[in-house]
Amino acid sequence: NRRYVLAQRPKGAPDENTLRLETAEVPSPGPGQMLLRNEYLSLDPYMRGRMSDAPSYAAPVEIGEVMVGGTVAEVVTSDVDGFETGDRVVAFGGWQDYALSDGTGVINMGKSPEHPSWALGVLGMPGLTAWAGLTRIGQPKAGETLVVAGASGPVGATVGQIGKILGLRVVGIAGGDEKCRHVTETLGFDACIDYKAEGFPGALEAAVPDGIDIYFENVGGAVFDAVLPLLNASARIPVCGLISQYNATSLPDGPDRMSLLMGTILRKRMTMRGFIVFDDFGHLYPEFAKQMGDWVAQGKIRYREEMIEGLEQAPAAFVGLLNGEAFGKRVVRLGQ
Ligand code: NDP
Repeated sequence: NRRYVLAQRPKGAPDENTLRLETAEVPSPGPGQMLLRNEYLSLDPYMRGRMSDAPSYAAPVEIGEVMVGGTVAEVVTSDVDGFETGDRVVAFGGWQDYALSDGTGVINMGKSPEHPSWALGVLGMPGLTAWAGLTRIGQPKAGETLVVAGASGPVGATVGQIGKILGLRVVGIAGGDEKCRHVTETLGFDACIDYKAEGFPGALEAAVPDGIDIYFENVGGAVFDAVLPLLNASARIPVCGLISQYNATSLPDGPDRMSLLMGTILRKRMTMRGFIVFDDFGHLYPEFAKQMGDWVAQGKIRYREEMIEGLEQAPAAFVGLLNGEAFGKRVVRLGQ
């Protein structure tokens, strides 16, 4: 059983000393447990938070513990009701070849799901995040303008496409021409603005002639600075993620803009609400799964995945995810 354990808490970006590859015996399931063979490991921005012991909504991974992560796995042997050998499941198996589970929080997809790895993306946690954050906090109404950051990523891409289905004008923000072209041409957003290009704030303003009614926040930082003056009265801001800050070691330089933010919230009567997907919206999973399954089957929601081959590629692929190298959902296929 190959497994990555947390070797060292990173300061700034994780590096080659953050995780350590170990080899151990394949664990033996006890009564009431099943043995899972991980086939796909999801790479997600929240993992950076778990590497840190700063206060957060979830406990950190301890030094020497297996790195946490969502997985699609095959049941090898099972003493858990509702799971049998050969079933494919969605679990939190972590960065390793094999994991034990008592079935808590594990979803059984049956023997031959069509796109098993999609359960880690559009049909799973990121998809639920997009759907619940937009519909429950964003409160979209047809004709409104939605801006979504991180527009080519698994959450942002799904947010924008749901926005189009619901009749919104949708403007994405992403890094670089290629991602922006994908966002408009393949995903069908009305526009996409490259935040790395010169003149970004002006280009964003030109793309939202009626202002912004909903801003789905995935990144924070300079992108939010450009969005803030464009928000309309009664704007809603689902605060989903702040990836531009995850590797930060201190607050950014510059004038204190807290009073600008608070003044804008007050004058524009805006609603900003943070959420943690499973804590706030986990109970909506069945409704989400039905709706998103239909949309994906009907081709109304497109999904892009980047398959990384081999567990040993996972650490570098994760560092790249935080740097903007990912183009679509990063999933690691584990070897036999
Ligand atoms: P993404 O694939 O979108 O995240 C990686 C992308 O973030 C990169 O490709 C890059 O896109 C963008 N990015 C990285 N650094 C910056 C930066 N400095 N400024 C702007 N963009 C940057 O991941 P997900 O779709 O999985 O997640 C999106 C967000 O949602 C994350 O913040 C994540 O933490 C959050 N999240 C929150 C959940 C919750 O429960 N609240 C649940 C799931 C996700 P580009 O090349 O375009 O810059």
